[in-house]
Amino acid sequence: MQKNTIKPAFLPKMYCGIFGHDYQVTRKVTHYIKEYTCAHCKKQLTTNGNGNLVELTPKFRDINAILERVHAKRMTRLKR
Ligand SMILES: [Zn+2]
Repeated sequence: MQKNTIKPAFLPKMYCGIFGHDYQVTRKVTHYIKEYTCAHCKKQLTTNGNGNLVELTPKFRDINAILERVHAKRMTRLKR
């Protein structure tokens, strides 16, 4: 059996539509919440409060910024 390797010579969005997004972690907000960016189409996702992946909208970006601050504060308190 020979495997065909197809080079993504077409639009990245089309590539993602066929092969699925190739998400990479771009930011760690807390231990549970991370932000992801697709390497091909640059679509961004984040983990929401329920642990599901959702599109990273400006609203979620704000929430993550707050969570990150709260999380950082908690971490410094734990170190003491
Ligand atoms: Zn994609």
